[in-house]
Amino acid sequence: MTQVSVRGLSKIYPGAAVPALDGLTLEIASGEVTAILGPSGCGKTTAMKMIAGLLQPSAGEVCFDGRSVLNYKPEQRGAVMVFQNHLLFPFMSVAENIGFGLKMRGVAAAQIAGRVAEMLALVQLPDMGRRRPADLSGGQQQRVALARALIVQPRVLLLDEPLSNLDAHLRNEMRELIRRLQKETGITTVFVTHDQEDAVVLADRVALILGGSLRQYGPPAEFYKRPANEAVARFFGGRNFVAGVSDGGVFRSALGPMQLPEGAQMGAGTLTFRPEAVVIGQGAENSVTARLIEQTFLGTQTRLRLGVGTEVIEALAGPAVAEGLCLGDAVPITLPRPSLWVLDGGAAGQHRQV
Ligand code: ATP
Repeated sequence: MTQVSVRGLSKIYPGAAVPALDGLTLEIASGEVTAILGPSGCGKTTAMKMIAGLLQPSAGEVCFDGRSVLNYKPEQRGAVMVFQNHLLFPFMSVAENIGFGLKMRGVAAAQIAGRVAEMLALVQLPDMGRRRPADLSGGQQQRVALARALIVQPRVLLLDEPLSNLDAHLRNEMRELIRRLQKETGITTVFVTHDQEDAVVLADRVALILGGSLRQYGPPAEFYKRPANEAVARFFGGRNFVAGVSDGGVFRSALGPMQLPEGAQMGAGTLTFRPEAVVIGQGAENSVTARLIEQTFLGTQTRLRLGVGTEVIEALAGPAVAEGLCLGDAVPITLPRPSLWVLDGGAAGQHRQV
């Protein structure tokens, strides 16, 4: 198992005015799964290629187990990158594709055959060795690509958007497979995704990159409970941002005084809370009366837009609660203390969507 350190990693492509990646620093524990998350063009693939050894950084350092690997090629680093369009060799059978890396390393044919059979079993395609890649479904091809990467027992496995081309059903299967393979092999794994759900479900730690810079790095739950700033909160579906001032454990804003959890930031700030944290009903504290402005049926839940003073907040309600509500109703709501979080700065009103 291998620990990966990325320090101050930057890339300025020739002729570019701004860096594609600016000073990325990550400490990835041995055997951990890390998601590099961000919207299209934020620099995710650039970061991944530099960790893999496919792209030379403009500045910064990449170390495996404390030793710089910057001057090593991917195979010398022990890093394997699986690309989104899996690039299987079309003229080779599935078994030949999977065994290719060992053949290149001069491993004996009988030994390769044994390892290929193990890999086929691992990715749950035991009888597919003789087929050509074109005779497999997209999801099966992706499994073959994973098997081909894992057979060389890499120190670090790098996956480029491993779930992006799959429909919802296959996506879940593939998530489970990657999670299981990673647990069984213990290989330090880094994957790139633009999908926060994939990041949250699969990763031990998430690195959110926006505009070439790391905005938050930590366990998935932190991005919901303790977002570093409004941009991070919004990327993770945050909808409620209310400007005000916190003082003595109370946040004062257009919502009225709200009791804050311990350790909340003091001074001018922006109160944030998840739509799913808003309780419809009166509580012992942090309750106000809102007016129902809009409701949108989402299937399992209903999204409510609620006016409180000059603010509009969003909440999610289950079917039992939503059915009893009509537009224009006065609705008591409660913001549970542990669900509140204060962000730096009080400019939230400027972004409010009414
Ligand atoms: P996507 O999710 O769309 O693949 P990404 O987050 O992986 O995006 P990168 O591919 O790392 O983003 O690209 C980051 C920025 O660097 C983009 O503005 C892109 O246009 C630019 N870029 C990427 N590769 C090159 C290159 N070879 N030469 C010049 N600019 C590049």
